[in-house]
Amino acid sequence: MQLKEIKNIFHKELGGIYPKEEIDSFFYSCIEHYLKLERFVLAVQPGLTLIKKEEQPLFEALAELKLEKPIQYILGTAHFMDLELQVNENVLIPRPETEELVQWILDTERSQSVISTPLNDRSLHILDIGTGSGCIAIALAKNLPNAKVYALDVSKVALEVAQKNAQANGVDITFLHQDILNNERGFPSEPIFDIIVSNPPYVRELEKNQIHKNVKDFEPHTALFVPDEDPMLFYRAIIDFAEKYLSEKGKLYFEINQYLGEETKELFRTRSFSEIELRKDMFGNDRMLKADRK
Ligand code: GLN
Repeated sequence: MQLKEIKNIFHKELGGIYPKEEIDSFFYSCIEHYLKLERFVLAVQPGLTLIKKEEQPLFEALAELKLEKPIQYILGTAHFMDLELQVNENVLIPRPETEELVQWILDTERSQSVISTPLNDRSLHILDIGTGSGCIAIALAKNLPNAKVYALDVSKVALEVAQKNAQANGVDITFLHQDILNNERGFPSEPIFDIIVSNPPYVRELEKNQIHKNVKDFEPHTALFVPDEDPMLFYRAIIDFAEKYLSEKGKLYFEINQYLGEETKELFRTRSFSEIELRKDMFGNDRMLKADRK
C-alpha cells in the first residue's frame, strides 16, 4: 500500500477522536519510529509504497491510538527537556509542568552558584521521591554535573525503567526501592540532602471525572490518585522525612494539585519551613511549591 494511503486511513479512523494536527503528528512519529522515515518523505517520494511487513506496525499503532492509548506508551519513548526516555505503563508519561519544576531548581541553583560556588566546594546531594521514569532525577543529574543524585520509588518495575533511562542518558544515580509512606526502616544517616524534590500522587478521586480517558485508562493509578479525605498524604510523609534528612539550608521542591495551592502552602507553614513560594505552570494553574528549611 502507498504510504499516503495509510496516512489517509489514519485520518479517517482517528478523525472523530483527535484534532487533525495531532493525527499528522502521530502518523509522522510512527513512520519515524518504525520505518526510520523522515516526515518530509511524502513530499520527496509521494508514491512511496510499503510492503506488508512495513505496514503492519503502523496498523497496530493505529488500533491502539483508536483506544486512546498514549502515543508515548505505544512507541515506548517520551521526551523530557532535552532527554529521550523509555516509558511503559508502569510509569507516568513525563509532563511539561514537571519540566517547569526542574527548570525552577536549575535556575535557583545556577544563580546561587555564581555567588558562592557551592557546587564546586562539595557535591550537592539531591533526592527525588517517587521517581517513576526517572525524568526529574536524570534531568537534574545531567544539568548539575557535580550533584550526587538519589531517586526512590515504591514500584520495582518503575525503578527498572528509571535505571535503564539513567544508563541510556549517561548519568549515575543511586536508586532506592522504598515506600515513603512506610519508611520506618529509616534511611542511612548519611547523606543529608540539600534538595528534596517530588511529584507525588495528588489527584483526588473526586477529580477523576475531569481526567481524560488516555490518562485514566492507561497511566498508573498509584502514581496519580490520593484519597479525597487525605489529599496531603504524600506531602506530610515527605515533610516528616525532610525534617530528618534535609540539610540546614536545604530546599524542598514539589509539584502540587492545582486546586490545593493554598492548603499545601498552609501545611508547610505549620512545619519547619520558611520562604514558601507557590508558582503557576504555563497554563496558569498553581502547580509548584518551593520551601526552605527554617
Ligand atoms: N499532572 C498529572 C496529571 O494531570 C498528575 C501527576 C501527579 O499526580 N503527580 O495527570
